[in-house]
Amino acid sequence: ARKFVVGGNWKMNGNKKQIDEILGFLKTGPLNADTEVIVGVPAVYLDYVKCNAPPNVEVAAQNCYKAEKGAFTGEISPMMLKDIGVCWVILGHSERRQIFGESDELIAEKVAFALENGLKVIACIGETLNEREAGKTEEVVFRQTQAIADKIKDWTNVVIAYEPVWAIGTGKTATPEQAQDVHKALRCYISEKISPNVAESVRIQYGGSVTAANCKDLGAKPDIDGFLVGGASLKPEFVQIVNARQ
Ligand code: 13P
Repeated sequence: ARKFVVGGNWKMNGNKKQIDEILGFLKTGPLNADTEVIVGVPAVYLDYVKCNAPPNVEVAAQNCYKAEKGAFTGEISPMMLKDIGVCWVILGHSERRQIFGESDELIAEKVAFALENGLKVIACIGETLNEREAGKTEEVVFRQTQAIADKIKDWTNVVIAYEPVWAIGTGKTATPEQAQDVHKALRCYISEKISPNVAESVRIQYGGSVTAANCKDLGAKPDIDGFLVGGASLKPEFVQIVNARQ
């Protein structure tokens, strides 16, 4: 069985005071021991959170580059993350794709480089509203997944986050059926194009306006293996989302 995995993507939010509050409710929990919990932290606070988070909460960067070191002003490398004990990274978030112009290919290269250097990766995919309305949802998520598949062989340390762009930060959650349909289609695609074993074992999170109110219905779907949570991960209700599957 696939272990349920819930990530909190803090994005560019928080300061030390707010982070102490978040760490406070994570410590109080209680967090379901059968769920893997990961918080995605702004780079400047990674070391602080790594040192102060409870042991049942793992820490992720929100991005990293595809080189070990060198003249890449503003970037951080997988080696730097490992140096401070961070073992996860979120890559390919739609905000990286849309605001910062990251291509399928660059994201795939970053995923491959992070994995080669011992990080675990939450790889994000998802269609825009235009793409959905044009009936292209599957085409888009398959293309984004295939770009990664072209560059990696071992999916053991990859979690896929399906985040429809129209559901991010909008309050418009995909219905459990809409999310399940895409997760299932993606698993079929992976089974055909990558391998049945990977399809069976890879965890696919749903992300986009997940809240304490909708997480139970989403989490009850057979192909939804967890969530990637934005806004609600900054609030105490994140504990309820972690515990969606009791
Ligand atoms: P919201 O939960 O705020 O919609 O954000 C989702 C997201 O982008 C997580 O990566």
